[in-house]
Amino acid sequence: MRIQMPAQVEQIIGKLNENGYEAFAVGGCVRDSLLGREPEDWDITTSARPEQVKALFRRTVDTGIQHGTVTVMIGRIGYEVTTYRIDGEYEDGRHPKQVVFTSNLLEDLRRRDFTINAMAYSYETGMVDAFGGVQDLEKKVIRCVGDPLERFTEDALRILRAIRFCAQLGFAVEAGTREAIPVIAPNLAKVSRERIQAELTKILLSDHPEQIKAVYATGISRYISPAFAALPWERVSVPATLPREKYVRWAAFLRGNEGKGDAEDCGRQARSETAVRVLRDLKMDNDTIARVKLLVAWSGVEPAAESEAVRRAMAQMEPELWDALSDLNGYGEEIRALTARIRADGDCLWLKDLAVKGRDLIEAGIKPGKEIGEILSRMLDHVLSHPEDNQREILLRIK
Ligand code: ATP
Ligand code: MG
Repeated sequence: MRIQMPAQVEQIIGKLNENGYEAFAVGGCVRDSLLGREPEDWDITTSARPEQVKALFRRTVDTGIQHGTVTVMIGRIGYEVTTYRIDGEYEDGRHPKQVVFTSNLLEDLRRRDFTINAMAYSYETGMVDAFGGVQDLEKKVIRCVGDPLERFTEDALRILRAIRFCAQLGFAVEAGTREAIPVIAPNLAKVSRERIQAELTKILLSDHPEQIKAVYATGISRYISPAFAALPWERVSVPATLPREKYVRWAAFLRGNEGKGDAEDCGRQARSETAVRVLRDLKMDNDTIARVKLLVAWSGVEPAAESEAVRRAMAQMEPELWDALSDLNGYGEEIRALTARIRADGDCLWLKDLAVKGRDLIEAGIKPGKEIGEILSRMLDHVLSHPEDNQREILLRIK
């Protein structure tokens, strides 16, 4: 079994070997290479201690030196080189209390979460697959290395990682591992919300975003947050055809209403408030929260297929969000064509594009203050109905 490694990885492993250390590509990159997927990054595991790694390479960064990780820079790309280690006792189900280095590759592989993530490879030695990872890749299953109850007890985040890898790879959780999930799920209450959010986001951004439903089906959701658990799960629909954008996929997940209502639908506000609560609980960044909030409020709302209605809807949000909304709500050809025409014509949709500025009004003799803003809003409202009137002289006449 041979996999193709980037020249830089080969170079790092070669240099470590020349100096008497063992070194292998390990984890996700080996898994993805065997699956014919492009690895996101190449991690290297070695018997060399961090100081020994640093002594061999010109440019290194101490990224996680206390856990044995040194980033070796080659050109502009960094490669994480981590010393073989055994994770010590997990005090709180969150962080290993201490990290112990070892000179035994197998001990390092044994601490890893799943068999498909516990393989190491080098050109010199070939594939090191002590736990049946290759076979599980063929069977398309996610299986813990060792006893699932123990492994989930050490770190409950692994439960969500299992579902995440299923979503990314189109795999299923192997029976023994699956049975351990509801037993250890309560421990997720102790895991940091940021780590949970990162896994949920990866599920939503995967090729199988509908796997997010497994989070509910396996009884995990109530240990994530009350608002999360109370979502209308039976209506969740996150089509894989949606753009792979964090805010789009989260909005699809949280919209909770696929029907098309009218703009005044009073459920809109409640819907977007629930979405915000879920995202706040998960420590989502504010920019994503704001975007999702707007998209959820607009979900199921469809403007009439005529240019003024479309202009007025477009005027409520950034262009990028309008495009996302068109995908989420599945707007048809007519609205899409109107959108394209409004953009091609350069119709004014926002104050920044209005032909009249505040200073034009001041020059025309209006006192600086509240009135200026009111006049500008009225002018914007007018050009949203009559885009051809977005000209200084015309607008100043109707002020
Ligand atoms: P990706 O980078 O695509 O998310 P990955 O498998 O590389 O997938 P990482 O989170 O980057 O995942 O972790 C790298 C490797 O470290 C994993 O392949 C696995 O061997 C190990 N690992 C990561 N997190 C855990 C964990 N919580 N418990 C045990 N081993 C883990
Ligand atoms: Mg990785």
